[in-house]
Amino acid sequence: MSSYDQGYTCIECEHSYDDRDGDLDERMCFECLDKIKVPFNFRYHAEIQYETELGFNFCNANGNTLDELLCDIDERLDQYKDRLPELSLVLKDPNGEQIDITNDVLKRLKEKS
Ligand SMILES: [Zn+2]
Repeated sequence: MSSYDQGYTCIECEHSYDDRDGDLDERMCFECLDKIKVPFNFRYHAEIQYETELGFNFCNANGNTLDELLCDIDERLDQYKDRLPELSLVLKDPNGEQIDITNDVLKRLKEKS
């Protein structure tokens, strides 16, 4: 198999990707691009881990208020509900002070359900 057939190797996760599921300029698959790109205009940022065939991966949830964030988290947890999604990190002010509020948010999610 030539390297062309395998696509390119992501510099972040080292899985291979091609132009359909990655960015050749960034040399990363879209999943890693998603992971490192924290939108600057959100005050809350969460990372959710879920299982894949190869191991696990992460997706993001964001919000400007805690309620917005919780809604977004709910949506993601639902989206990946068959893949054992788990909240792995929640940050307030992700591009500034980066206050870890993971435990608070986990508590709130439990209260809601
Ligand atoms: Zn990757």
